[in-house]
Amino acid sequence: MPIAHSIARTLERERGTIIKPAHPRSVRIALVFPNTYYVGMSNLGFQTIYRHLNARSDVVCERAFLPDPEDAQDLIRSRTPLFTYESGIPLAQCDIVAFSISFENDYPNLIRILELARIPLFAQDRTHYDPIVLIGGAVTYINPEPLADFADIMIVGDGEEASYRYIDRYIEDRKTLRSAHLERAADMRGIYVPAHRIFNGDDHNEPTSDQIEKQQVARFEDYPAYSGILTPDTEFGETLLIEISRGCPRRCRFCAVSYVYPKFRAHTPETILSVIRSENERLVRDGHPGIRSVGLVSSAMCDYPYLNELCAGLDALGMRVGVSSVRVDLIPDSLLDLMLKTGLRTMTIAPEAGSERLRKAINKPMSSEAILTGAQRILSRGIQNLKLYYMVGLPTETDEDIEELIDMTRRLSNLQRAEGLPGGRLRLSINPFVPKALTPFQWSPMAKPGEIKRKLDRITSALRRTPGVTVKHESLKSAYFEAVLSRGGRELSAFLVETVRRDGDWKAAAAEIGLDMGFYLGDMSQRSSLPWDFISTDREQHRLRWEYRKSHGLPYRELTPVVALERPPVTTSDILRSQ
Ligand code: SF4
Repeated sequence: MPIAHSIARTLERERGTIIKPAHPRSVRIALVFPNTYYVGMSNLGFQTIYRHLNARSDVVCERAFLPDPEDAQDLIRSRTPLFTYESGIPLAQCDIVAFSISFENDYPNLIRILELARIPLFAQDRTHYDPIVLIGGAVTYINPEPLADFADIMIVGDGEEASYRYIDRYIEDRKTLRSAHLERAADMRGIYVPAHRIFNGDDHNEPTSDQIEKQQVARFEDYPAYSGILTPDTEFGETLLIEISRGCPRRCRFCAVSYVYPKFRAHTPETILSVIRSENERLVRDGHPGIRSVGLVSSAMCDYPYLNELCAGLDALGMRVGVSSVRVDLIPDSLLDLMLKTGLRTMTIAPEAGSERLRKAINKPMSSEAILTGAQRILSRGIQNLKLYYMVGLPTETDEDIEELIDMTRRLSNLQRAEGLPGGRLRLSINPFVPKALTPFQWSPMAKPGEIKRKLDRITSALRRTPGVTVKHESLKSAYFEAVLSRGGRELSAFLVETVRRDGDWKAAAAEIGLDMGFYLGDMSQRSSLPWDFISTDREQHRLRWEYRKSHGLPYRELTPVVALERPPVTTSDILRSQ
């Protein structure tokens, strides 16, 4: 079968694959990434949990991914259920099928994979003979509810320790009924059994059951996250990705990273360097080439407290080093020097909003002067290209903010030329603002498609003749889909299934089932509860309300509704008419 051959070839190109023999008593886990191999193998959470589960002698964990469309057709035609990469066992024959999910737009892929694996889609339809479908990953920190009907078990928060506790429970309950096992699991810390959550009548926003305590590993230092398998068949190729810190102390009001992780945690340089050294030794010992490049993963690179020591250590290892985006006003010389040594020609920065006023409102208070000074420092060292991340449609945004974004881009372009870099590029990546659960903007309405399009058109046409500038943006269609899934509850499961039936045409699916999109995209400030309230504490919710009111220059009144914004509500027909 073609898919089996292509998987065999893919495995041949990997370095660091874990192949374990299964014993009759081993717990067999299929760890599934709900997107293609190419996307999944650059996901640090997926790679880390794979290695972590296989560290147990009583577990055999193998990977599975969303097949390419041709391979999926091949499976359907040949009536072959989806199987794992390492041993080819069908997912339905595993004890646990565990999904690691990071992005809302991958939700339909979970349904596609369950269908290809011939596992009943809904938890309520599964029997003792079906595997436990477990969901973990970044989405469980934020809003697990849209996937609740598909999951037997969810692990809310850090999965490293909670997954071990759950597997112990699973082993102990092997001879008991599925229902009894789920009942016991529901009593465990951080384990969410969606079927056990009770709602008042039909209103899924008014649960009566308890809070779920988001999990956090006891000693972060004990769980370095890195990509133990290297392959050329993924976005970051043969680069060893390693997380240097988790969370962020900055509290930008649109960003969940700062609010969903209980605190900002960092690994020491010794831990990071020792992982790199030992992974390198392991590969060489197994007859593979060693590691040539390392990618440092952090949402808050410039807040990493030991950056100078880490840069010195990496410099001594002599490997290429890449980083994610940096705070242009905080980047230290040590990092710039290291980047330059590795031949870096492009630096990524994220001002997010065009004007100083708006950056203050979203709590990313960088002055325009600080951005220009920081950019000049970068350009003057010979790093000639800048990539800039922006959003449009942010709460309180006006046309003046957009004009300031255009003005700032022109000034940066002039700076490139003044620094003698006429070939320098300025790449603007502009995405529509999507309100996210568990951020201070969780109540904010999303801007109408017409408004976002008008602003994007204005930026693109104003910068058309500015030297070196290119403007790219995410499709509006996928941004609105993400927004619906970000703030919905478990009532969205019918919508997700219909979207898959219609081959991803979610607008047609919404029209078919009569989904009121205004409910998900509009102002939520008057709602008495939100579907994800049960994974946050009252204290966290009060903090979000305080931040929200502050962003609008309002005094904090604890129990009053946050504020109704003066933005016309988005309606279903707005979305159906949009691109
Ligand atoms: S946008 Fe960046 S700096 Fe702001 S909170 Fe998120 S991770 Fe931190």
